[in-house]
Amino acid sequence: MIPLSDAEFIIIGGGAVGCGVAYSLARAGKTDVLLIEKAADVAQATSAQGAGLCGQPRPTAERTRLAMHSVHTFRELQKDPKVQPEWHEVGSLRLALTEKRAQEFRQLKSVADEVGLETELIHPGSAARLCPSLDFKGATAILWCPSDGYMRPYAVASSYAYQCRKLGVRIATDTTVENILTENGRVAGVATNRGKAACRYVINAAGAHAYHLARLAGIELPIVPVRHEYYVTTPLAGWTPELPCFRVPDLTLYGRPCEGGLLLGGWEPKALNTDPRSFDLAGEPPPVVPDWEVLNHFEKQFAPILGQTRISEKARVGRGWPTFTPDGRFIIGESRRMKGYIMAGGCNAHGISGSAGIGRLVVESILEKNPSPYLHSLSPDRFTETSWTWEQARVQAAHVYETYYGV
Ligand SMILES: Cc1cc2nc3c(=O)[nH]c(=O)nc-3n(C[C@H](O)[C@H](O)[C@H](O)COP(=O)(O)OP(=O)(O)OC[C@H]3O[C@@H](n4cnc5c(N)ncnc54)[C@H](O)[C@@H]3O)c2cc1C
Repeated sequence: MIPLSDAEFIIIGGGAVGCGVAYSLARAGKTDVLLIEKAADVAQATSAQGAGLCGQPRPTAERTRLAMHSVHTFRELQKDPKVQPEWHEVGSLRLALTEKRAQEFRQLKSVADEVGLETELIHPGSAARLCPSLDFKGATAILWCPSDGYMRPYAVASSYAYQCRKLGVRIATDTTVENILTENGRVAGVATNRGKAACRYVINAAGAHAYHLARLAGIELPIVPVRHEYYVTTPLAGWTPELPCFRVPDLTLYGRPCEGGLLLGGWEPKALNTDPRSFDLAGEPPPVVPDWEVLNHFEKQFAPILGQTRISEKARVGRGWPTFTPDGRFIIGESRRMKGYIMAGGCNAHGISGSAGIGRLVVESILEKNPSPYLHSLSPDRFTETSWTWEQARVQAAHVYETYYGV
């Protein structure tokens, strides 16, 4: 266990986001960084459960660029043979089953063209050559993005941590932040179960506990944990690791090859969410028990696309409480309410694929005199300087989840 020490930056939380932020700071030359994680290792909470897909085509140029930066970083991390994110740049296929969706894909393609992301609208025959295990006959459009892919979420956080340590970042595991220390409206440090550490900036990347740690600094943010699940089958003939990821938004499904079988997940039409005020900083959100009704429904929905493949046994279920915000946007940047208090949360289930891009935005928020309008739109101030109720916030955050693939 490393000794606790003062630092310029203290990051709370060693999930994909906290580790991605630490890596971005270190790459920007800011290496006086202490990352504090309460578990014995990085990526033990939500990040451990992620499906690991990274899709770059997005409805806006800024969001697409953010994902492209993450892919660029995963490639870079993959070059170090010692600890790799297990990044598989296998491409992704997006299937439309309606004309409205096909129109959305044309729009995604035009945004991709604008920012220089290679994508192509391809015919079912070409898609079948890329992924012989799926049936593309009913598709009204298919969008192919060759530089998309998947990774192992724990491996991503570990490879960030490995590179960070080489650059001088200190990572204190088995250490719990219990309070935020302030002085004259500015962050002064943190109190932990192992003592105090002073700092100039606190970066809150505490996932499902980001609400509680913001509250300790007097910042009330609607960061709503919403349940999400997928399953992985036992090995299936034909589902080799180099097959592309796929998304069928009209069926609200996504998947990829995984552990010799298929990983299949989806967005439920009625999302289960939890009020972060119902558990405290020292507690945990309720355990997520596999919901077989939901998981079997994914399988039923998926059947027409699966062609000849018959789903074998389900080997394991991935599940957890990724956090959602009422407007579906990340919460990134310094709070007007507390100088030096920086948010990196509310990831809307993009925290692994977005980790490097989020890290870059956090660095921009600290180092840039004139942050971009996009970064400004992610500010925590949009919630602290307006009025909202928890009831509304939960309904809206659940709606963001339920319409994840909304046109
Ligand atoms: C089933 C499922 C599938 C998903 N699929 C994908 C996907 O394909 N692609 C994708 O990009 N995202 C996916 N997500 C979402 C993704 O997992 C999250 O967005 C991401 O893991 C959030 O990372 P994080 O670092 O913010 O949170 P976490 O991983 O939860 O990390 C927060 C950390 O803070 C620590 N912490 C909390 N309180 C304290 C404290 N007081 N002191 C010290 N440490 C503390 C916790 O121990 C934890 O390690 C999925 C999520 C689920 C559940």
